Amino acid sequence: MALEDLYKEVILDHYKNPRNKRPLPGAEFSCSKNNPLCGDEITVNAHVVDGRVAEVTFEGSGCSISQASASMLTEAVTGKTVGEAEDLARDVRGMLGGEVEPSEETFGDLVALKGVVKYPVRIKCAVLSWDVLQDALEDTGDAGVSGEAAGGTRTSASGEAIHALGES
Ligand code: ZN
Repeated sequence: MALEDLYKEVILDHYKNPRNKRPLPGAEFSCSKNNPLCGDEITVNAHVVDGRVAEVTFEGSGCSISQASASMLTEAVTGKTVGEAEDLARDVRGMLGGEVEPSEETFGDLVALKGVVKYPVRIKCAVLSWDVLQDALEDTGDAGVSGEAAGGTRTSASGEAIHALGES
């Protein structure tokens, strides 16, 4: 099987059996965006505990690339620190821009998105969920990272960091 076919299989698998596609009640961070060019819509919800992404889910609809990318995202960033998740988002963006050569170790299934580079129109589809993640996590900002301070229970900056960025 050609590598490209393998990538397609991985993307289709995530599209048909999306991981962590559900609402996340009580999520501190939530952000939505759409890609009007394709009609993709993605919401990413994250539960961040002590600067670490304890749980992340997505909701939305759209093409196979956008949905598969979001599904892979949830698997890839769960358990990472906010900083690591942001680094990964940057690397994925770099890979889709053809600037970063992904290693299978750090990327896992995400490597499959590399096939999208050849189809510039679809890059926006693949990047969408990562954009949403970055926007959602930006809200943790310094508070999220520097914050062992509050001593124990984390009440993050705002209980309702929900933006509707759909309309640009
Ligand atoms: Zn799309």
